[in-house]
Amino acid sequence: MTDYPALHMLIAGEKVTGGGRDTEEVINPATEEVLGTLPHATSDDLDRALDAAQSGFREWRSTSADKRATILTNAANLIRERKEDIAGWLTREQGKPLGDGRGEAMYSANLLEFYAQEAKRTYGRTLVRGEGSRVEVQYHPVGPVAGFAPWNFPAINVMRKIGGALAAGCSVIVKPSEETPAAGIALVQALLDAGVPGGAVQCVFGVPSNVSEHLLASPIIRKLTFTGSTPVGKHLAKLAADDLKITTMELGGHGPVLVFDDCDVDKAVKTMAGNKYRNAGQVCVSPIRFLIEESIFEQFRDSFVERAEKVRVGNGLEDGTDMGPMANARGRENIQKLIANAKEAGANLLTGGEVIGNQGFFHQPTVLSEVPTSADIMNNEPFGPVAILNPMSGEDAMIEEANRLPYGLAAYAWTDDAARRRRLAAEVEAGMLAINGGSVSTVDAPFGGVKWSGYGSEDGREGVMACMVPKTIHES
Ligand code: NAD
Repeated sequence: MTDYPALHMLIAGEKVTGGGRDTEEVINPATEEVLGTLPHATSDDLDRALDAAQSGFREWRSTSADKRATILTNAANLIRERKEDIAGWLTREQGKPLGDGRGEAMYSANLLEFYAQEAKRTYGRTLVRGEGSRVEVQYHPVGPVAGFAPWNFPAINVMRKIGGALAAGCSVIVKPSEETPAAGIALVQALLDAGVPGGAVQCVFGVPSNVSEHLLASPIIRKLTFTGSTPVGKHLAKLAADDLKITTMELGGHGPVLVFDDCDVDKAVKTMAGNKYRNAGQVCVSPIRFLIEESIFEQFRDSFVERAEKVRVGNGLEDGTDMGPMANARGRENIQKLIANAKEAGANLLTGGEVIGNQGFFHQPTVLSEVPTSADIMNNEPFGPVAILNPMSGEDAMIEEANRLPYGLAAYAWTDDAARRRRLAAEVEAGMLAINGGSVSTVDAPFGGVKWSGYGSEDGREGVMACMVPKTIHES
């Protein structure tokens, strides 16, 4: 396996590092060893990136959509060729099992390829008004984009920031998470290698608030796209509002799972337990509050606990690992506090609940049941390997509980009743609803939330159109 790479920024097509810049260490969450040292951008670096984004935008938007599509497709193929390296780096910097890292690298390539095709389909329309008179609606790239991506999916999240922007003809400066930088650098490098101009795609690092404040203060940036927590998203949206920049916000969630007694319980447990402990629960669309009809509660609970206890926790590089460590110590401390608080509030701890070992940020797959609404974990996203199983009765009450929180990202439902499926599709407040399945993400459909989970979409044609603005030409 390839060594963890030397880390640098990519500004105006050049590798930028050293030079007395501030640095920070990147830690392997499975071993706590230092993987590498990451440079932080100086204020001059960020100004240089902004200037390059301005000229890169002019160059890239005047590149034909066909040529942009070819370059982006070639970059997707380079990512596929480099999949093993990217997967190994993902596992070492983030902790996820190697197979998941491979899947993440491939999803990033597939998403870029989808966007490459969509670059050719940013259609406008023509309204014919009479002889010689018409109104033409055109779509244009909004301008340079600033994207901020978190550490839970270091490749997919970065691709969601840059793929739609580049397909639309925008330039983009991305800041991957400083905790998981190598995968993001690798994606940007693949785009440069395929022929995207150095000013059209750039990668910077730093103290997150310093970088975002600097970039968002510049009138050059016309769009902000952020994935992360709701408080940070609200803060950045306010900064963007000062200059009326367009924003896409992909924020936290608190996924409800409505399990009705007419469903295939075995399939529901198997699918949702696998989904719950994927990426150690550090997934914005993770299933969290399981609302289970009383008549099947015990069957679902016992079978779910059995599956949670079979999850093999270990270093993601080792064969047979189902779940790696949590990505950082603060995330693990957070769920320890939430579990303690839930127990105090009267919840049952059915399995797990403890940290594992004294090296790395490992935590047991955990199941709580009968958790009262007053417990913190019923209201705040745990972002860790904890499932809440609560018995409920009645469709109305289950929908009401699903919609109780200000979040609305992913929701899940298990039922064989067609009329009920239609009702859930209409009434569950979520950007994405999976019915009788566990996946809410595909490259060709929008991914995003409602309410405090944010607004705007990534993936799908919506991910490209989110980086474009209409211009209406009235011709007489
Ligand atoms: P956090 O809220 O401080 O950071 C979340 C992400 O935002 C990180 O990648 C960070 O680098 C970035 N960030 C923070 N402040 C920023 C700023 N001022 N400007 C630009 N970027 C900034 O906290 P955290 O400890 O990393 O995660 C805490 C919670 O955030 C999690 O428990 C989860 O609820 C949420 N989160 C959500 C996602 C998601 O996919 N929606 C991803 C990561 C974290």
